[in-house]
Amino acid sequence: MPVEIDDDLCGLCLGCAAICPERLYAIENDSLVISDGCTDCALCIECCPIKAISLID
Ligand code: SF4
Ligand code: SF4
Repeated sequence: MPVEIDDDLCGLCLGCAAICPERLYAIENDSLVISDGCTDCALCIECCPIKAISLID
């Protein structure tokens, strides 16, 4: 299941990028993008201080 970021909430702290074991996060045009390959580990969701990340069906 992929994850989704609420760009209106995200403060670009990059905690999620640092914690993702698959290194799926990158910044493009001042917003976060996530590559394919998510393993649903949920580490990024748990680390986001403002709950801007969610799993999508
Ligand atoms: S759920 Fe895990 S693998 Fe998927 S983007 Fe978040 S930290 Fe990376
Ligand atoms: S941890 Fe949350 S606020 Fe920080 S960059 Fe990731 S989505 Fe944005």
